[in-house]
Amino acid sequence: PSRPVFDGQLPAGIQKVSNIIAVSSCKGGVGKSTVAVNLAYTLAGMGARVGIFDADVYGPSLPTMVSPENRLLEMNPEKRSIIPTEYMGVKLVSFGFAGQGRAIMRGPMVSGVINQLLTTAEWGELDYLVIDMPPGTGDIQLTLCQIVPLSAAVIVTTPQKLAFIDVAKGVPCVAVVENMCHFDADGKRYHPFGRGSGSQVVREFGIPHLFELPIQPSLSASGDSGVPDVVADPQGEVAKTFQELGVCM
Ligand code: ADP
Repeated sequence: PSRPVFDGQLPAGIQKVSNIIAVSSCKGGVGKSTVAVNLAYTLAGMGARVGIFDADVYGPSLPTMVSPENRLLEMNPEKRSIIPTEYMGVKLVSFGFAGQGRAIMRGPMVSGVINQLLTTAEWGELDYLVIDMPPGTGDIQLTLCQIVPLSAAVIVTTPQKLAFIDVAKGVPCVAVVENMCHFDADGKRYHPFGRGSGSQVVREFGIPHLFELPIQPSLSASGDSGVPDVVADPQGEVAKTFQELGVCM
């Protein structure tokens, strides 16, 4: 594979971060943030030092998915840096913790805000920084790939969506998560959105791993409760799937 887009000096805030994982999707609403947050807490549960960067400044979802005691990012005035907030040992940075209400910004401003949040945050020593990417493949995504060197990408998709996103040249796409694949009712398994698109993507692009997540009321409920599903139910089916995904990282 060709070289990743990143070709710069490592920003100070992320110099001690070993792996940066991008969680991406073609469009919104497919469960990208759900996967990013649960993957992060799974890695933390395995003993890793983990941070989550929510790169969606238009609709940050991290503040609804986790419930840190301190819901505002603090500044270190001397170093002019941002101190991430924390929930269950995972460091968190999101525009939703910046306390500025809804953002009305144009593209270049958005890139500036993302750049500042990501690179001036004091991430410290981390094994994994999980980036919840904004949906799609626009300028913001490209900027992100130029700011930091991604070590791996996870693509989240739904069964009806065959489109594949090209995160950045040279960034290995480690896994596809096909979300909302099926649900079980009355002893039967239903595939409301059809099936097979995930395996087709995986085959076509030579991606090593495919994971399927069912439509699961607990995933939806935990998304709003502030406690990630893998934390609320560490022995459940969803947690098992995330553990398998976690060991691929
Ligand atoms: P995205 O980040 O792609 O916009 P989210 O992760 O915010 O998507 O998910 C959109 C909504 O769908 C959220 O309310 C979330 O709780 C819910 N959701 C995601 N995956 C599942 C699932 N497998 N089962 C049930 N609800 C889900």
